[in-house]
Amino acid sequence: MTHALDDADPLAALRDRFVGTDSDLVYLDGNSLGRPLKVTADRLCRFVEDEWGGRLIRGWDEGWFDLPLSLGDELGRVVLGAASGQVAIGDSTTVLLYKLMRTAIAARPGRTEIVIDRDNFPTDRYLAAGVAAECGLTIRWLDVDTSAGATVEQVAAAVGEETALVALSHVSYRSAWIADVAAITAAAHDAGALVLWDLCHSVGSVPTELDSWGVDLAAGCTYKYLNGGPGSPAFCYVAERHLDTFVQPIQGWIGNTDPFVMGPDYVPVPGIRRFLSGTPAVVGMLAIQDMVALVDEVGIDAVRTKSERLTAHTVDLADDRLAPYGVTLASPRDPERRGGHVTLQHPRMKEVVRALWERDVLPDYRDPGGLRIGLSPLSTSFDELERGIEQVRMLLSDLR
Ligand SMILES: *Cc1c(COP(=O)(O)O)cnc(C)c1O
Repeated sequence: MTHALDDADPLAALRDRFVGTDSDLVYLDGNSLGRPLKVTADRLCRFVEDEWGGRLIRGWDEGWFDLPLSLGDELGRVVLGAASGQVAIGDSTTVLLYKLMRTAIAARPGRTEIVIDRDNFPTDRYLAAGVAAECGLTIRWLDVDTSAGATVEQVAAAVGEETALVALSHVSYRSAWIADVAAITAAAHDAGALVLWDLCHSVGSVPTELDSWGVDLAAGCTYKYLNGGPGSPAFCYVAERHLDTFVQPIQGWIGNTDPFVMGPDYVPVPGIRRFLSGTPAVVGMLAIQDMVALVDEVGIDAVRTKSERLTAHTVDLADDRLAPYGVTLASPRDPERRGGHVTLQHPRMKEVVRALWERDVLPDYRDPGGLRIGLSPLSTSFDELERGIEQVRMLLSDLR
């Protein structure tokens, strides 16, 4: 099937590199779980036979032990805008966010508040509440527009001498709103607070410049736009200026100095390795390597350009074909403020999404009434998108 926008897309041919893209299934949830790359199947197979099966325990000295940091450096260079030595891979995003929240609070003794928005991803909010209870802090909740997200003005008005940490998402999981990381970080710093950015919905689709934006701490997952596979380990970023003094609470042996000495005390190893706790999830890091290599080949800016075209086309199609049925846009209209997905609102969207899944059209649903169209820039085609939107239109017209 051909579509004029696919014909004009310089990255269109890359879709063939992903497993399953030759079927008629419409996949609009790559921001929840990215499709696997075909080369990943070979890599996994080779790993079992040659590396794991052949090298056995020797593998730890032959790259596995350093993989959390070597792949972290690659991720930093290719998509995060982070110089080497500041990114590590391990744990889940939830666990890393916990570690980084505790790190920040320990680094700002005497300060009593965490600033976070009420529409942040659930795990972030639950963690902040738990950490606040554990450490005797209170939360200053930001009320944000759920079709947008936290603004610089809101953060500037909320921070002060009592703020230890500001914890926000770069791209809102609900609306796709892109927060102004540089300006919000600067506002928090003016108040003497630290900032922790959740990059789950931006990493691999919206570029970041963590170093030049002055970010302190960040974390994100690798199974969304980085196609690492279900449950692949997360990553954390800690700015170099903090690495000598910041410590994290899960004092495991892998973050210790000389882990194989098995000594009596925990003395955090210099550098980003101190943010690791236990044995690296080597198998979980295999697929990420292939996707990072592909993004490197294409360039993150070209990925972002394709992503912007996909979301713009989604908005156009929604205006044209779905607005007549009462569907409204719950994402920013301004492409500069919009990340890689688009949320469309309708009171009966839950039923629509249930019927879509039965027809092999797989978007996401977020209460209340939000159809979340996730556009994985390198594996989603315009034709696939248009077929999906057409199914939504047909289902809405049947509801009447
Ligand atoms: C997906 C997502 C998470 C997921 O965290 P896990 O520990 O991997 O379950 C966290 N935060 C945001 C913003 C997300 O989008």
